[in-house]
Amino acid sequence: TSFDQFEINRQLLNAVADLGYTEPTPIQQKTIPLSLGNHDVLGIAQTGTGKTAAYLLPLLMKVKYAQGTHPRALILAPTRELALQINEAISQLAKYTDLRHLALYGGLGPKKQIETLSQGVDILVATPGRFIDLYRLGHIVTKDIRTMILDEADKMMDMGFMPQIRAVLEVIPSKRQNLLFSATFGGRVERLSSEFLEAPIKVEV
Ligand code: AMP
Repeated sequence: TSFDQFEINRQLLNAVADLGYTEPTPIQQKTIPLSLGNHDVLGIAQTGTGKTAAYLLPLLMKVKYAQGTHPRALILAPTRELALQINEAISQLAKYTDLRHLALYGGLGPKKQIETLSQGVDILVATPGRFIDLYRLGHIVTKDIRTMILDEADKMMDMGFMPQIRAVLEVIPSKRQNLLFSATFGGRVERLSSEFLEAPIKVEV
């Protein structure tokens, strides 16, 4: 089994090869075909399982590169560190494309982030609070968002982000694909997924 089995393009396969990935991990094996098939996916997987590439590869396969001004996918992460890490993983996997992506997080002035947003972005990675702040200031147009990914959903619940996540869900189009990844599947993540996913396929590794 190799990455060739998936319907992903040559640019992505070459980037995967550069990273030294020879075969998909179990979470990749199980969720990549589901995501490519536009299902909502609930992935229960720890850090270290390859969950990031599991949701990024199908997304990078589907999203059009360098098209239009407004983001077509939104990835929410609980912390600035994780947002930066995801953004770096996008840089590596999308290195042979002209995809435009940006991480939005608090802790520093938004000037540079606002400037990059205005130049056009295909994929946004954001912490929920900073996303909502910039949305309310009119810097993010959400109408073209077709994919929403929540990473480390259990951590987002632990950190009390439910109100911010609800606020995000209220301002993005309802017709979209949703992917939720979490290390654990407890009461709050279960409630979040029933509120936010549509007929999800649950994958556990
Ligand atoms: P993650 O669970 O997304 O935090 O990924 C953990 C680590 O596994 C990262 O350093 C990835 O670069 C690496 N990784 C992801 N997919 C694969 C793969 N198919 N083969 C080898 N390493 C991988």
